[in-house]
Amino acid sequence: MHIPERYLVTSALPYANGPLHVGHLAGAYLPADVYVRFLRLMGKDVLFVCGSDEHGAAITLKARKEGISPREIVDKYHSQFAETFEKIGMSFDIYHRTSSELHHRTSADFFKTLYEKGELTERESEQYYDSEAGQFLADRYIKGECPKCSFDEAYGDQCENCGATLSPTDLINPVSTLTDSTPVLKKTRHWYLPLDKYEDWLRAYISEGELDGKEHHDPSLWKNHVLGQCKSWIDGGLEPRAMTRDLDWGVGVPAEIPGSEGKKLYVWLDAPIGYISATRQWAINRAKNEPEADPEDWKKYWMDEKSCLIHFIGKDNIVFHCLIFPAILKRHGGYLLPHNVPANQFMNLEGRKISTSRNWAVWMKDYLERWDGMEDSLRYYCVKNMPEQRDSEFTWKGFQQSHNNELVNNLANFVNRVIVLTNKYYDGVVPDFDENTLLEGNDELGMPSYHEVEIMDLFDRLDSLCESLRSCELRNALKKFMELSAYGNQFLQNHQPWKLQKEDPETVKVIMNVGLQVVCALSIAMHPFMPFGSAKIRKMLNLSPLREEGDFLTALDQLSEGELLLKSGHQIGKAEHLFTRIPDEKIERELELLQNTGEEKQEKKEQDRPKLKENIDFDSFVKLDLRTGTIVAAEKIPKTDKLLKLEVDLGFEKRTIVSGIAELHEPKKIVGQKVTVVANLAPKKLRGVESRGMILMAEDDNGRLEFVAPPKDFENGFAVG
Ligand SMILES: [Zn+2]
Repeated sequence: MHIPERYLVTSALPYANGPLHVGHLAGAYLPADVYVRFLRLMGKDVLFVCGSDEHGAAITLKARKEGISPREIVDKYHSQFAETFEKIGMSFDIYHRTSSELHHRTSADFFKTLYEKGELTERESEQYYDSEAGQFLADRYIKGECPKCSFDEAYGDQCENCGATLSPTDLINPVSTLTDSTPVLKKTRHWYLPLDKYEDWLRAYISEGELDGKEHHDPSLWKNHVLGQCKSWIDGGLEPRAMTRDLDWGVGVPAEIPGSEGKKLYVWLDAPIGYISATRQWAINRAKNEPEADPEDWKKYWMDEKSCLIHFIGKDNIVFHCLIFPAILKRHGGYLLPHNVPANQFMNLEGRKISTSRNWAVWMKDYLERWDGMEDSLRYYCVKNMPEQRDSEFTWKGFQQSHNNELVNNLANFVNRVIVLTNKYYDGVVPDFDENTLLEGNDELGMPSYHEVEIMDLFDRLDSLCESLRSCELRNALKKFMELSAYGNQFLQNHQPWKLQKEDPETVKVIMNVGLQVVCALSIAMHPFMPFGSAKIRKMLNLSPLREEGDFLTALDQLSEGELLLKSGHQIGKAEHLFTRIPDEKIERELELLQNTGEEKQEKKEQDRPKLKENIDFDSFVKLDLRTGTIVAAEKIPKTDKLLKLEVDLGFEKRTIVSGIAELHEPKKIVGQKVTVVANLAPKKLRGVESRGMILMAEDDNGRLEFVAPPKDFENGFAVG
């Protein structure tokens, strides 16, 4: 088994063309931060790296739209990301960026090595070219009609209406978004990574956790949905993937490679190499400040077999981190491959998918401004609802309830009672106690004392919490943390020291001492989830903040030896507010702000309704021959998503009419439907079927299509007009 000596943990590089929201936080950042803080508390050597992903066509596209340079876009978001991460308590060892010179050098060298080793195949293909702009078009620069759903704003790589993955040449009537001209196909050369050749070893790596015939990692520790997605890709057959693009923003293909002119690295090649360049930058920075550190120290994390590489990402990045990046690393040689990729699913918001374009999100920047000082509350709620195995949901009411019921009523209440009573009874000094003080239910001779039993129980609870954190089951670990706090509350409630103090102060000393040990344990176990609150409790206990240097491990060792976490005689500080209640108004305000964006959208939609067409004269209108009819047969036209072939009875004859309503109306359900038909429309062939006429339909804002029909008892063939 691979027992690591050190860990390299990465969080997905956020893409620098739009702001961060809570879905990002819960997906790839918070889980990594909780895990890393835990590892450090267990005394592990761990390095945590991240940075902004600043290349790719989407950034140049946005820059063009806003009339500024790509550099201005990435600078804006990079500094915004760095500030957001800092405020929410992400404990990166470095937050780097892919536009840095070091990254350009690192990824260009990487490409050069792959090229020189003959790992890349060069191929000519035809790609769309905008003759007016004089450049090849990245997938995102081409729009057109989706062949699957006929949505007319589909991109060259994806249709955002039906979600289909597309190639630019799939689009019907493609248009260049740069100049609105029709692009032409032109030959271009690119370098491909022959993923098809790696199928066998990638399958063994994913399914068996094997690499070069040796055990690499335990695949049973990987999440099912991650393995499932990888296996379905491999089973579907891997294809060579282009590693370069014709673009003017990004890492250039090294000039010494023939044909490099105008070529940039594919953003999905350059971005994960960003983890490597970030690690290099960390080592360089450290060597400047610490004389014994070496700028080459980054290699220990990437190249030493005793290191463990873990990528925290969202589920949309699984294939790149589990198949493509490992393939690149292995063919380059010398690098470790990921030992685990604990990808999360998505977090939805108030019953809908979070959407940047629809402004349906809780933006991190807004949260940090409006909820200043409540960073831990968001961290708590996001871990509690983390989409670890399936999609989860953020609701503002849920946020309020978890804060008020759990953080205020349970955790803050317990801590406050212990600190206040200790100050009241003992002037803030941790009380010594008589080991032999007997409490009810624990009065047999020769048995461990009441206090000893409590300490053993505390150890067991913390140990179990650690086990959950070790296996990265963060929701479960957080639950155990809150159970410990609830236990503390219950313990005080059961013994009621405030009633007992006058008649039996000796017993109260035992109770309060136990209570203080639990509060101290909470301050440690809380740290990975809520580092700000942990520091507050430490201050109330008059302890220094945790340094993340094995503090949790030390505490466990102490408890297992029967030692106390807070020694008798230690002077604690005063009680302070840990969490305060969230009033309803504050939540209502957030819901209002969120719904307002929905209302704006409604207004916009009304404006978007088709404008009135130009007037026509009466003679033109009476030329139109509208008739009542009944659909008597309906079937789908093969290989289309939208088209139905209908037989319509017009009384005097039956007609074949093709109608684009298949997505909204099932053929068998519309047989018998009364319809209004444009009966004198010139015949037209659609997908090989001659359509003679048109069925009148009404469409609403949401795309609902309904028949404009005469009453049921109307016969077929009547004139409408
Ligand atoms: Zn589509």
